[in-house]
This record gives sequence, structure tokens and C-alpha cells, in this order.
Amino acid sequence: MVIYEEKQRRIAEGLDCGAKLSQWKDWRWQLAHSIRDIPTFERLTGISFDSETRLQLEKTVAKFPISITPYYLSLIETADYRNDPIYKQAFPDPGELTVQQWEMSDPLAEETDSPVPGITHRYPDRVLFHISNLCAMYCRHCTRKRKVGDIDCIPGRDELTKGIDYIRSHPEVRDVLLSGGDPFLLSDEYLDWILGEIRGIPHVEVVRIGTRTPVVMPFRITGGLTEVIRKYHPVWVNTHFNHPRELTPSAMEALRKLADAGIPLGNQTVLLAGVNDCPRIIKKLVHKLVQNRVRPYYLYQCDLSEGLSHFRTPVGKGIEIMESLIGHTSGFAVPTYVIDAPGGGGKIPVLPNYLLSWSVHKVVLRNFEGVITTYTEPKHYQNTFCDNNCQDCHLQLKLENADEFKAVGIESLLSDSDETNTLIPQNIPRIERRER
Ligand SMILES: *Cc1c(COP(=O)(O)O)cnc(C)c1O
Repeated sequence: MVIYEEKQRRIAEGLDCGAKLSQWKDWRWQLAHSIRDIPTFERLTGISFDSETRLQLEKTVAKFPISITPYYLSLIETADYRNDPIYKQAFPDPGELTVQQWEMSDPLAEETDSPVPGITHRYPDRVLFHISNLCAMYCRHCTRKRKVGDIDCIPGRDELTKGIDYIRSHPEVRDVLLSGGDPFLLSDEYLDWILGEIRGIPHVEVVRIGTRTPVVMPFRITGGLTEVIRKYHPVWVNTHFNHPRELTPSAMEALRKLADAGIPLGNQTVLLAGVNDCPRIIKKLVHKLVQNRVRPYYLYQCDLSEGLSHFRTPVGKGIEIMESLIGHTSGFAVPTYVIDAPGGGGKIPVLPNYLLSWSVHKVVLRNFEGVITTYTEPKHYQNTFCDNNCQDCHLQLKLENADEFKAVGIESLLSDSDETNTLIPQNIPRIERRER
């Protein structure tokens, strides 16, 4: 049940004088009535900016446009809007115009690691597939801010077919992550086609969809949409809640529909200064998520995208938050805190230190309460030497289940069968001298 509050009614009528409750809950109505300029925002919220601020805001919007669904706008508590987490995620801040020297337009090198348009292939067994240029709302902290304000267009079948063909011709890809933009801005029919094409590729084991619609436009999660998705299981959905206030009755209803369709749900939160950089806020958020059958998946350190400096926290804030979660609450409510490495290195998990010291047969650990303890290691552990030949191994992995294996990176340093004993950066003078 959507609570059709007075505030929502006022916003709806301010946009469309004949608006009815049924229209408020119609995602296409929400999209068509998104707030895309500052005067409309002022008129609907009763917030007004002085002329100097408005000038700065107009400049910001000229570079990074604004788009807020009436639903998300209705969540702003206008009395203290300057500190409001909804306002801060939705409404421009002139700070976005400040570009620091270490910021980048594409910090994750998504374009560089793109073999065909739409695909980013960074990890060995999975790809990111951008299937939509549309978003229900333009999040101010978007990591793909470079693309915000590009002409809204949906890639056609010919365009997407190139990505699908890439996946089809790469048998190592067992996980396809649909992203964008927001895949749920596509029509049910188009998603049906895309999911059908991908599901038709035998080596694709799972499909994942990343969407913020449950947060900013929960009415997108219709029975029709879940009927399409459930035809293509296993499909996992990751959403993007950043603050407990976003878990409204409408959002919870959307999550219920997704979970009832058998879709495992995860959540990716971005750590944002002034929005959720507080252990108690994050703890409340993860508790509300698991109550709604959503597993907190990642907590992201804010990327080095241009214009996000006012949103960034030190890494220490993230560690402090992790310290307040691990052990203090259910293990499945604890996300992995990651820094997405600039230059395309991928996600790097960051944790407080739990391993304090080590001897030949004991490790010294500390727990969340500060208890310092030991774990005595086995005296007679028989390591199984691994030459990658599962056939002759006493551990019973059937050969047909043993994946092709080539150790990569640090894994290769630890491997019994790999000759690599050192990883050397390409650009150190000592190595350059050898090559001369
Ligand atoms: C985040 C990401 C993935 C998925 O990573 P997981 O850790 O498996 O969730 C895949 N490709 C790219 C380019 C990514 O940025």
C-alpha cells in the first residue's frame, strides 16, 4: 500500500493538475514528470535559493543535468533540506564544478577495458554490459558522471547484438552483469528479448541486473516485469540504497515483489560524506535491508570521478564503519567494503586488521570486542601438492567439474605448479635497464 500523503498529492498536482493516485504509481507518469529544472524544484518544494546560489546552481546543471522523480522528490524533508540525504543525492551542489587534479572522467577505465561498445571485460569470468543510457534519477554521486546528460537513448538491437555476440564468442564468461544507465528503464518487452538472448548462450550461468529503480522509482517493479525476469532464472538483482530513509513502504513493496519472484537481492551502497558516513546510519540501513530480504553486498569508497570531492570521505571512515558492523551484527548484514582501483584494477576489499601476529604454529587474533586470542595450527597437516591434475588427486573433484585453471597474479605466486616467483612492475628503471 502506498501511503498517498498530502505532500505527494501536492507535488503530483503541482506537476499535473488532474493527477490521480493511480498515476503517481505509474512509472511512466513518474518519468514523464521528472523534475529537470531549478524553478520547478523550487515551486514544488517551497525551497527558494538566493540569486547568487541560483546562478551557481544553473552553472552546475548546465554541466551535469538534473532529473528527479516526483516520488524521490517527495522524500525530501524540506525544513532542513541542506542536511537532507535525499536532497543531497538528488539535487546539484556547485561543488560538482570543482575538479581536483587526481579526479578522472573515467576513473575505472571502463572505456579502455571495452572490447566492443557496451561491454567492459575486466575480470576473467564475467562482463559488465551497459544496455541502457537511461536513469530514473541522475544521482549526484554517479561514478559514470561523464555520461550523465548524454542524449537519452536506448541502444538498438543491432548495437546490443554486438555485445551479445561478444559474450557468445567468449566461453569463459559465466556471469553477465547488466548495467547502464538503469536496465529497468527499458520496456518489459525489450528486457525480455535481451534476457532471452543472453540466456540462450549455454556458458552463461548467471545474469545480474544493477538497478536503482526500487529506490528512486519503486513503481517500476511491476508484476509484468517480475514475470519477465522469472523466465530467465538464475537472475540476481543488485539495488542501490544509501540511507535508511529510502526504505519507504513503496520501496519495500518493490523489494517484496522481486524477492517473491525468486530473485536473490543484493545492495550496493556508496559511502557519501554528509549522507551516510556514520556507523549508526549504515547499521540501520543494513538491518532494514535484511528485513526486506536484501543482502548488503558492497559498501563502496566513493570513486575518483570528476566533481565528487564534496562526497568523499577518508578510507578511515569506511574502516570505522566496518569495525562497527563485523561481530556487532549478523554476518549476512555486513557488506564488503571496497575501493574500486583507479585505472581499472577492479574492486579491492578493505578490512580492519584482525590478524595481529604469527609464529610457526600459532596465530594471534583479536575479535570485535578487543579480546586477543590465539588459534593453534595443526601439527601434522598434509598439504596436497597441486599440479592441476585433478584426475590423480585424492580430493574428489570430478575431472569434468574442474574448471580450466591458470593461476593469475598473487594466486600464481602461491601456486605449486606455477613457476612465477615474482611479479614485477613494467616501469621500474632496474627492469628497463635489462631490456636496453
Ligand atoms: C564490479 C564489476 C564487476 C562485478 O564484480 P563482482 O565483484 O563480481 O561483483 C564486473 N565487471 C566490472 C567492470 C565491474 O566494475
